[in-house]
Amino acid sequence: MSGFDGIGGNVTVDGEKLWSDILETARFGATPKGGIRRLTLTEEDRQVRDWFVRTCEALGCVVTFDSMGNQFARRPGTDPSLPPITMGSHLDTQPTGGKFDGIVGVLGGLAVLRALHESGRETRHPIELINWTNEEGSRFAPAMLSSGVFAGVFTEEEALAKTDRDGVRFEDALVGIGYRGAERCGDHPVAAYFELHIEQGPILEAERKTIGVVTGVQGMRWYEVTVIGRDGHAGATPMALRADALVGTAKLIEAVQSIALKHAPGAVGTVGLLENRPNSRNVVPGEVFFSVDLRDPDDAVIVRMEEAFRSTAAQVASESGLEITIELVWDSPAVRFDPTCIDAVRRAADSFAYPARDIVSGAGHDAVYMAGVTPTTMIFIPCAGGVSHNEEESAEADDVMAGANVLLRAVLDADERLN
Ligand SMILES: [Zn+2]
Repeated sequence: MSGFDGIGGNVTVDGEKLWSDILETARFGATPKGGIRRLTLTEEDRQVRDWFVRTCEALGCVVTFDSMGNQFARRPGTDPSLPPITMGSHLDTQPTGGKFDGIVGVLGGLAVLRALHESGRETRHPIELINWTNEEGSRFAPAMLSSGVFAGVFTEEEALAKTDRDGVRFEDALVGIGYRGAERCGDHPVAAYFELHIEQGPILEAERKTIGVVTGVQGMRWYEVTVIGRDGHAGATPMALRADALVGTAKLIEAVQSIALKHAPGAVGTVGLLENRPNSRNVVPGEVFFSVDLRDPDDAVIVRMEEAFRSTAAQVASESGLEITIELVWDSPAVRFDPTCIDAVRRAADSFAYPARDIVSGAGHDAVYMAGVTPTTMIFIPCAGGVSHNEEESAEADDVMAGANVLLRAVLDADERLN
């Protein structure tokens, strides 16, 4: 553990305690298959929040929560004029979630607070751990709701008015579990934000890397495509006189595949939803509706992919006598994380000699919104088979500990370099 140029000294996290915290909190909402069902603002969520308060207070932290229920556990720094360097993620889960998504980031941050507390290590900035409310978005859509309010992407009023499938308002559920705080969400200066998370993809495991140095989050665009041809009798309509919407669609699906492959390995393209009408075995299909999902770490590449798709569609339309409309329904630009924070993570991984590689997140996280308001980055660790949002989700104790160690040293590095 030597060789780290002074920053962090020999302070490391207690990996066994971190693992036992993961198992202990997994009881709140435990499912028979070994996963967790801990939907936001439910009784199980209240239980894990109460545990978070007790445990952080026992480490000498002051725990507060804001008007969206986001929890903040603060360990004071030596310079009271500085805003906190923050770490965080979420303790809510999907309805059939695992023990690691989000949880590793919060409990890994807790392991950092514990390491600082037990070693008596002082920092200039306060160090703060955040548990974000409703990251998953499965009870109240959309996802990352409260970090979104914190960053000014959504207004608090619209967020509080969201309802779940039973018609329960977000605000009522928040008040109901006792976590609607007085501090207005977002009125909370921060100096930086670090989020530790499982990769939720297969790359680190396949390449036997322990740490993913996350440089950003890929951009994403969703389209809805309607192809209109002409219904016809499957026996009586000669091939030359057909306007077969499904055959045209097949060419477009193939185009999505080849366009994404042309921009490999960064780009991905998917047609995941398709409705064929009238969907009858002896009728030439007259209309098809389908979705297209294009993603790449670079927004300019997505624009080029869209152009290629549109020009293929124009060609298919004119060759096949089809009418094709393409509507952009969602545009989520790529996020590039802060170079100083990324460098802090890279140096931290090197200091432990953990095998590491740069990686771009394929999924959204609270860090996406935090990147809009403060220097931000993420640390990934492998998860088995890339499986997530699933009760089978699994990670190795050693990797979880490594991730928390990198978080610890990255935070200490940022404490020295940031103001
Ligand atoms: Zn997550």
